[in-house]
Amino acid sequence: MAQLFFKYGAMNSGKSIEILKVAHNYEEQGKSVLLFTPSIDNRDEVGYISSRIGLRKQAIPIDENTDMYSIVKNSLPKPHCVLIDECQFLSKDCILQLVRIVDELGIPVMAFGLKNDFQNNLFEGSKYMLIYADKIEEMKTICWFCERKAIMALRVENGKPVYSGKQIQIGGNEAYYPVCRKCHKNPPL
Ligand SMILES: [Zn+2]
Repeated sequence: MAQLFFKYGAMNSGKSIEILKVAHNYEEQGKSVLLFTPSIDNRDEVGYISSRIGLRKQAIPIDENTDMYSIVKNSLPKPHCVLIDECQFLSKDCILQLVRIVDELGIPVMAFGLKNDFQNNLFEGSKYMLIYADKIEEMKTICWFCERKAIMALRVENGKPVYSGKQIQIGGNEAYYPVCRKCHKNPPL
């Protein structure tokens, strides 16, 4: 039975590396995979999944009008697996398309993303993945400042922590760090 997987983790927990690894493993066995990435993520060119260690792979960009269900249904050969990067940025409607890919097309979907934003609210995509996923797995990494597990993202602007503002602010001069709960509250900046 195909399943919907949600693998979440703080920044730098190796989510993109894991996607690229899973895709490589399938393709090495001659099995096709489809990769999607939200076009909102412009750390790199739109339409690429990139890891900090330098690996990258082309992916289908998703915006609010992308019909992922039809793309997967009409793709030949039928993909063995669908992989989604940065799924926190997806809408509820997109997550429900992933559910249909699993339940109606019988294709497993693995979606990777952050769980909570820098103000510790769930992202929309993550909220619905937590509700609909068959399997939920945490990818772990350690806090930027100490040895505890990182479970939050700290936004820093001009050397100061920021606890308010828009959830998604890409292209500004802010930086994000994976942090533990204690360092999120009192970062040693
Ligand atoms: Zn810490």
